[in-house]
Amino acid sequence: MGRVIFIGAGPGAADLITVRGAQRLASAEVVLFDALTDPALRMHAPRARWIDVGKRGFARATAQARIDTLLVQLAQEHAVVVRLKGGDPSIFGRLEEELLALRAAGIDSEVVPGVTAALAAAAGAQRPLTRRGRGRSVSLTTAVTHDGALRGSQRADTEVFYMAGRQLAGLGRRLQAGGWPADAPVCVVSRAGWNDELRSDHALHDLGHAALVHGGRPTVVTVGVGALALSGVAPAHKTLLLEKAQASV
Ligand code: SAH
Repeated sequence: MGRVIFIGAGPGAADLITVRGAQRLASAEVVLFDALTDPALRMHAPRARWIDVGKRGFARATAQARIDTLLVQLAQEHAVVVRLKGGDPSIFGRLEEELLALRAAGIDSEVVPGVTAALAAAAGAQRPLTRRGRGRSVSLTTAVTHDGALRGSQRADTEVFYMAGRQLAGLGRRLQAGGWPADAPVCVVSRAGWNDELRSDHALHDLGHAALVHGGRPTVVTVGVGALALSGVAPAHKTLLLEKAQASV
């Protein structure tokens, strides 16, 4: 009977995995990975069998049940199975289901943390999520509930929304209904941590425009104190800051 190591791969670029994550990955006989993971990570375990279990295109519930079963089967056949997850495994990563499946089968597990997308976005934008005296709390929220409904809220000084990429205009409306002012600063970052990361700034009522920039890319939306430029001034409304995109043209 083997063990399963959950490893956070970080938000993209292969060098954002932790040293511990890379070391554990090197010990894998089998690696189960998701669509968002950088293929360059394979260099850490070139002889392992790599299995793509990315859920795009599958009915989610079925796909998750299949992954749970596969993990248990593989751990019964191999000494070390790595479950590589984008960002951090504990953030919107279905970690609970997979840990419970292993526990039920009496299989040992370990979790190695990773850099979650919200933190990579804050680093790329150089906008701290907490600020002395002004930003005391941060929330990481999924924009969509499990039944597909869109949710907005105002629970923290800085709120970072995951999985909102396809519904930015709707999220903007929900957040206003949830108590955020129409001119609240919003920073939208897609493919944070990758070379082609893009970032744009908006006033909340104008969030729908971000779809033009980030359409089809993994995107996080930061609202509130953590979206402010360092001067503390909200960037002019409708101004798109596409520094990296412009630099590459
Ligand atoms: N466990 C992951 C999140 C998985 S949910 C983590 O900790 O980051 C998938 C969502 O994460 C995407 O819909 C998107 O909102 C966000 N995401 C993942 N990678 C991203 C990236 N590089 N840049 C921006 N958002 C990202």
